[in-house]
Parts: sequence; structure tokens; C-alpha cells
Amino acid sequence: MTTDTLVPYSEAMERYEPVIGLETHVELGTRTKMFCGCVTTFGAEPNSQVCPVCLGLPGSLPVVNRMAIEYTIRIGLAMNCTIAEWCRFARKNYFYPDMPKNFQISQYDEPLCTDGWLDVGVNGRTVRVGIERVHLEEDTGKSLHVGGATGRIHGAEYSLVDYNRAGIPLVEIVTKPIPGTGADAPVAARLYVTELRDLLRSLHVSDVRMEEGSLRCDVNTSLAPRGSAAWGTRTETKNVNSLRSVERAVLFEIERQAAVLDAGGRVKQETRHFHENTGTTTAGRSKEEAQDYRYFPEPDLVPVAPPAEWVEQIRAALPEPPSARRARLRAEWDLSEADMTALSNAGALDLVAETVAAGASPADARKWWLGELARLANEDGTELSALGITPAQVARISELVAAGALNDKLARQVIDAVLAGEGDPDEVVKARGLAVVSDESALTKAVDEAIADNPDIAARVREGRVAAVGPLVGAVMKATRGQADAARVRELILRRLS
Ligand SMILES: [Zn+2]
Repeated sequence: MTTDTLVPYSEAMERYEPVIGLETHVELGTRTKMFCGCVTTFGAEPNSQVCPVCLGLPGSLPVVNRMAIEYTIRIGLAMNCTIAEWCRFARKNYFYPDMPKNFQISQYDEPLCTDGWLDVGVNGRTVRVGIERVHLEEDTGKSLHVGGATGRIHGAEYSLVDYNRAGIPLVEIVTKPIPGTGADAPVAARLYVTELRDLLRSLHVSDVRMEEGSLRCDVNTSLAPRGSAAWGTRTETKNVNSLRSVERAVLFEIERQAAVLDAGGRVKQETRHFHENTGTTTAGRSKEEAQDYRYFPEPDLVPVAPPAEWVEQIRAALPEPPSARRARLRAEWDLSEADMTALSNAGALDLVAETVAAGASPADARKWWLGELARLANEDGTELSALGITPAQVARISELVAAGALNDKLARQVIDAVLAGEGDPDEVVKARGLAVVSDESALTKAVDEAIADNPDIAARVREGRVAAVGPLVGAVMKATRGQADAARVRELILRRLS
């Protein structure tokens, strides 16, 4: 493998203007497959969810899954597309071992949804990403290469094929070329996929898990000299499987293509593979042209003609778009754009919203989810939503803190106990005796002892050096095993020494 020459990113940006484009494949979360009744559960025993239709056995006939059509229309409407009154499936002919029919049922010149857009916030401005088409097709099976060190076909002793995935409905969302993002191109690519993922999640059409392959991206990148009217030749980097990789793939292609163009070469139109471990891309096959696939209308299926009333019903039932919801919550919660982005990125937006709905203040809900709970999730290598604590429980803890019954330190102990399965916050507080010492006489006694034990510090505070009070507060907190309200303790000490 030759090592590519690269031009440092900032230098490349001085001379070249990137245009990006994204093709995203989304596995729909329908219960059954696109053209048969096989179930689609992820992770089942290989080849246990197959039938003559999805194995492409002779004589079997496909039937379109109505729910998949509805999901695709939902996606198209949410992305401001026109929904075709009449469209057809097409056969895309190519050979691949994990594609049992040796053709894929897809859509070609008559997609279900066309000509939409999705707004994406990129570093403080809005980039309107044009959507070329949203079409429906079927997924392929999965090859497993056995015996090699890398799990790739090179060096493998043999390969196995699992057809459970073959025939799962797949939506392909293709953007128009996105010019004008300049040095933000890699970030814009990542943020588009992020926005798309959030939108799809809100539509309940897919579980959009990049790590399980239910959301997969191909990233197109081209470079043209600054000021040039024509766009450059694009490469297509396949199956980029995390948000971070989307950004890295564009960045690498820009640095690589700039070096090719600097040397007077031409960028080849080809597919490339992204390598997660190195952040680089390598050449794959040269890109097929549409005619190589011998597309023709699928003769085994009738055309799809969604009635206008049905489309309008689907439109009327669309949920609030994530961008509008974020803007509304941001105003209601009085947060900055950066705070809101941090919540989204941490996957905490819904959790905070539910915690607020359960009675916590937005500031407190945010503090616990982005602070202690994010830290614990990170330690565990798990997602916030997978932690064993509910928004209602977090709201209750924050209520106890607000009422002075817990301080932050005790609240953290309550969280630990709830996560350990010891029950609801109130049960934990009772069982572990975790409550702030609010008994005035006990506190006063501890304050007097702290003053008696630290005469020098007490003297300084008496002279008016209020900032010196810290060690006295510390002594009282220690004496009460952290179960006092520090602010209250400070107040008592200062009153005693005034
Ligand atoms: Zn089947």
C-alpha cells in the first residue's frame, strides 16, 4: 500500500474549495422485511430469518411492505420532499455473494421522494442541504471472512454468508452537491448526518445505530481551485460508520486530493474505503456508471401510487422537527446555543426534558445529567440513557437538594445507591440515613467545637477576615460526616464570630 502525500488542511483551504455530498443508507425499523414476512430482529442466529423470497429461490414472488412505504413517505415529508403520485421499483443488476438474487430491488429513475432540503446549523450559520432523492430498496446479506487476522477477505481461509439482513428495507437519502461550506466542509458533513440521525429518530422509523450498521454513510468529496467555476472530480468514500469518521473522511480526502492537484495530477472518480484506525482512505473499485447495472422496471411488483389523502394523513401526524424542538426548549430553559449543543452531543436532551417535566429546574436537570451522571456513564463506557436511573428519580433527588434535605455530596451518594439498585431516592435516603443535619443544636455544638479547636483561625475571622472561615466549615462538615448544609454552617460560624 503506497502512502498518500497530503497537504496540510489550512494550506489546502487557501488554494481549493471543497464540495461535499452524502448518501445515507438507513435500515428501517419495520417488524418484517421489505418484500416478505421474515422478521428483522438484529443479532439473531445466522440464516434463521430467511424464506424463499429473501433467499431469491426460483418461483418466489415479492410483495411490498406497506409500512416501509409509509416510513419512507414520513422521511420524505420531514425533509420537505415532493412525494411521487406514482413510482416504480427497479432491478439493479450486479453480482455479490451476499446478495442471493444477484440483483437488488431498488428505485432508479422513479424514486418515491424527490427535491427536498434539511437545514443544518454549522458554526453559527444555517446551511440548507438540498435533498436530491429519498428512495427505497432492500439490504443485502452479510459476509463473514474467517481465518484472517483482520476479518477482511484478504488472508481469510473461507467466507460465510448470513442472509438475515437480506431484504431488510433500506432507505437511501441522497443530498444534492453541497458547495460553499469552505473550511467547515468536514464539520458540515458530520453535522448533517447528526441532524439527519436526530430527525429519523424523532420520526420513529429506525433505531439509527451507526455502530450496528442501521445508519451508514457514503461521503462524496471534490476539490476545485478557488475561484474556478467548475467543480472538481469527486470520490465516494464508502460505509463510514461513525459521526466522527464522517468528519475525518472528508478532511483526509481534502488533504489527499489537494496533494494530487498540486502535483498537476487528476483526481480519479472512484470509490474509496475509510480506515477507522488510521483515519485514511484507500482506493476501491473505479466507480460504476448507471448503465453497468442494467436497471429495468421490476416486473414482479406493481407500481406504488400512494393516495393523496394517505400522504396528507402522514404529514398531519409528523412530530415537531428536532431543530424546532431544540429552539423551543432552548428558549424555555434559557440556555445558550453552546449549552444546547452540549446536551445534544451528550445524548441528554430527552433525558433533561423528561427530568424537567418531572419537576426539576432546567438548570438542575442539566447539572446532574451533564455532570455526575455523564461522569458515571463515561466511567462505565455506557450511554446516559442506559444508566439505571430514571428522569423521575433524578428530578426527585434534585427536589430533595432544593429543599435542603440533601446536599450535593449526599445527593451523589443517593445516585450511587439508586444505580446500585437499592431503590428509589426516598427509600435510599431512609435506608442509609442520608439526610442533611438540620438539627440546630447538633450543628451549633459542632460549630462551637470547631471554633474551640481552631483558635487562631477563629481569631482571624473575628478580625473581619471572612475568607479565612473555610477550615472551620471543613471541620464542621467533617464532624457531621458531610451531612450538613455547607452554606448554613458557614452562616452559623460567621454569626458566632461576629
Ligand atoms: Zn424472507
